[in-house]
Amino acid sequence: MSDFVMTIAGDTVPAEDSFGVVNPANGEVFAHAPECTPQQLDAAFDAASKAQRDWKLDEAARRATLLKMADVLLASGGELAPVLTAEQGKPLGDANIEVFAAAIWCQYFANLETPPQVIQDDAEALVEVVRRPVGVVAAITPWNFPLTLAFWKIAPALLAGNTLVLKPSPFTPLTTLKVVELLRGVVPPGVINVVSGGDELGAWMTSHPVPRKVSFTGSIETGKKVALSAAPDLKRVTLELGGNDPAIVLDDADPAVVAKAIFAGAFNNNGQVCSAIKRVYVPEALYDGVVEGLAAQASSIKVGDGTEPDSKLGPINNAPQYERVKELVADALSHGATAATGGGPIEGPGYFFQPTILTDLTDGTRIVDEEQFGPALPVISYRDIDDVVERANATHFGLSGSVWGTDTDRAAEIAGRLECGTAWVNTHLALAPQQPFGGFKWSGVGVENGPWGLAEFTEVQVVHRSKSADGLNLNTGGLVS
Ligand code: NAD
Repeated sequence: MSDFVMTIAGDTVPAEDSFGVVNPANGEVFAHAPECTPQQLDAAFDAASKAQRDWKLDEAARRATLLKMADVLLASGGELAPVLTAEQGKPLGDANIEVFAAAIWCQYFANLETPPQVIQDDAEALVEVVRRPVGVVAAITPWNFPLTLAFWKIAPALLAGNTLVLKPSPFTPLTTLKVVELLRGVVPPGVINVVSGGDELGAWMTSHPVPRKVSFTGSIETGKKVALSAAPDLKRVTLELGGNDPAIVLDDADPAVVAKAIFAGAFNNNGQVCSAIKRVYVPEALYDGVVEGLAAQASSIKVGDGTEPDSKLGPINNAPQYERVKELVADALSHGATAATGGGPIEGPGYFFQPTILTDLTDGTRIVDEEQFGPALPVISYRDIDDVVERANATHFGLSGSVWGTDTDRAAEIAGRLECGTAWVNTHLALAPQQPFGGFKWSGVGVENGPWGLAEFTEVQVVHRSKSADGLNLNTGGLVS
């Protein structure tokens, strides 16, 4: 594959240098992406800034553009999904779902009503609260869902009247470059600019003087750097960061049923989901049954190259992440854990790892306490529900969590005690464009999606129309109009 270009001001900018992109299914470079220079980044922000002057003026045109973008996406699955599979590793079916999700997000925001709020309308004044765009947005995405997560930013940012400079992960730049190129036909020049490069390009973006907002999805470690870098000129930030989601099984759950669903919540995208289940707490009496169910799922699922039609899980996306998963699993095993199934890499080329269920371990083991972000799941037994809720919360993470049981009122009450942005009952990873998503504690700042996510791409403005000729009374200093 070749021919991946940056789009700045609606046009291709020539690459002065490039970097290789690896197919994780074989570990080989299969394509190159342009390396953005500082001057090209300046040009991208300049283009976004100029484009925003008109873009912010016509809401109807913005909504129409978002709908046209959705149409382009829906027509482009055949072109985009294979690129996504090649650079990310996920099965082709999942790659197609990502393209589809991007279209759905555009359609949702195209149709999201944003009426001004009237907070006073009487003889004295009409006072409205309206939302104004923040300006130019620097959008930075990770490698697990390059397309979906880009559109979680693009769609609301554009509806609100902002323009963007978007940077994908250096591990997965290609689909993002390609989609912005495909959108040139329907998006005015400069409204979406895309640049590619290494991590330092992200740092240049967050410290650049033009953007007024950084919308970042990635690791906690990088998120903290982004917050620091955005602080000197008080850029607005939304940070969607890592998670270590607990799933708590209650004593009235059916082990076979929950094991199947928990497996799906943990191993979606090969475990490379910020809000995947990353540790499972099971009552002692149900422990063996749940482990057996999880191990049966893990040992029977087909792992393989995402281009093979029967592959359900692909490789881990990149070498550092592959090494990290190997290290965390080896650490657990060397501290007394048992692999009910899996436990190590799959022989051969590519970053393939056996779907792994770990037992006989508890909090304090690295794979329980840290975010593994891969196909290995620790299962921990517990006796007391209050104690386990405390253990689930005893972490800097707070992205999401789930509680599993037959009495759903009781499960919901316990879910409500989890310190996290989304608390599911008998499900996990149920996400939707209308549902705000974000983390407590170190898992993030702010939310994406729904009207709440849209609001993060805006500034609040009060428009106060006095209805009396002498609208300002000197003696009250304006407190009463
Ligand atoms: P990462 O933090 O390494 O990289 C994310 C992006 O930030 C990349 O584009 C990278 O090039 C860029 N970047 C790196 N250093 C930067 C800097 N100093 N300044 C600005 N940008 C910089 O994360 P990753 O490894 O690509 O993604 C995995 C992580 O993302 C996991 O922790 C996962 O949980 C998290 N994640 C969170 C969500 C969410 O919505 N909460 C969604 C997906 C992934």
